[in-house]
Amino acid sequence: MKVFKFGGASVNSVERIKNIGHILDHWKGEKLLVVISAMGKTTNALEKVTEAFFAGKKEEALQLFEQVKEQHLTTAKYLLVTNYLACEEQLKNIFTEAEWLLHDKPVREYDYYYDQVVCVGELLSTVIVSYYLDETGIHNKWIDVRDIIRTDDNFRDAIIDWEYTKVKVQDSIVPAFNETNIIMTQGFIGATDENESTTLGREGSDYTAAVFANMLDAENLTIWKDVESVMNADPKQFPDAQPIHELNYNEVIEMAYYGAQVIHPKTIKPLQNKGIPLYVKCFLNPSLPGTVIHDQTLKHLPPIIVLKENQVMLEMNSKDFSFVGEHHVGHLYHLFEKLKVKPNLTQNGAISFLCVLDDRSERIEKLALEASELFDVSMMKGLSLLTIRHYNNEIVEKLTEGKKILLRQQTQETAQLLIQPLTTH
Ligand code: ASP
Ligand code: MG
Repeated sequence: MKVFKFGGASVNSVERIKNIGHILDHWKGEKLLVVISAMGKTTNALEKVTEAFFAGKKEEALQLFEQVKEQHLTTAKYLLVTNYLACEEQLKNIFTEAEWLLHDKPVREYDYYYDQVVCVGELLSTVIVSYYLDETGIHNKWIDVRDIIRTDDNFRDAIIDWEYTKVKVQDSIVPAFNETNIIMTQGFIGATDENESTTLGREGSDYTAAVFANMLDAENLTIWKDVESVMNADPKQFPDAQPIHELNYNEVIEMAYYGAQVIHPKTIKPLQNKGIPLYVKCFLNPSLPGTVIHDQTLKHLPPIIVLKENQVMLEMNSKDFSFVGEHHVGHLYHLFEKLKVKPNLTQNGAISFLCVLDDRSERIEKLALEASELFDVSMMKGLSLLTIRHYNNEIVEKLTEGKKILLRQQTQETAQLLIQPLTTH
């Protein structure tokens, strides 16, 4: 059996939902577990609902939720004829699940409400797609993934209870494949042992799909995206980015670590543990080769570029010219942990410590303030961090031309450069 994951962009219009049917037609007769995200920007819309509700703006929350409802009912109406009423009923049950909560006053923490409301997005999209496929003759079984994926109650970033979930997969998913070739379920969401909904972190559907691939010993996992394949750079930043048709697990983990927005970083481990290949394919043109990510030693990978913008550099000099040793550095790492900031690059000198971070102003200000007990802190904003895997001098020169290099670190494989755009005026 195989696992397919379709992201939000693949179900954001009636045409695209129909396209999923065309893709699945090619795999007729195969056992497929299909994981689907919420449609388009639904997750963002549901975040807004939660924010309004938690701010005590009940009417606004309900009205924003109404828009999400309308949008899904309209999509269902366009897609369905014979299955419409059955689908509508199931959609309404899901609406009600969120609405009874929105009518109350918030008494628990924000993250709890976030998960109860936001999980609705994937439930709605999968119900619609499931009924649509059924109506076109692609029979499938819809499963509420919250009955399968058990998590802890760390809302918004819940951790999967691997043992419990494995048993559920064996007891519920495996036998369901005796009745049907296609099982349709949700990514990104799960439930606690008290049946509260949870989410696994934004963009977490890739991870869910990988967890299922692992537990079902799938032949492979295919993530269907709107890009032709994994590229060696973000084409929005580098228009001459090139497709890469073959990668290995380690390379993808490294890319994700340095900030490439390819695949959710947690996705690789469950696949790597069982040697399950991951295909990235384009749902707009399935005949394109896409990318395979597997357990191979690869030579001659092209330079892979990750550019993180909006970086801030903190320079911390010890107050009394004392050396920056374990005591100082230890103190700083405690602060990073406490304030939940993760430096993208650090460098230690005799009496100074440099770190480069994403510019989340509020946290950075707190960090600077707390660090100022031990250090004189200075801050530089508006920087970019360029990471080049498999670099050569030529590409480094090309990408830093006309820019000031503030800091450079490199190993044999990876060069990182902190750069400042030269002002033109
Ligand atoms: N719908 C969720 C999100 O937008 C999960 C996902 O798409 O992977 O973050
Ligand atoms: Mg998504």
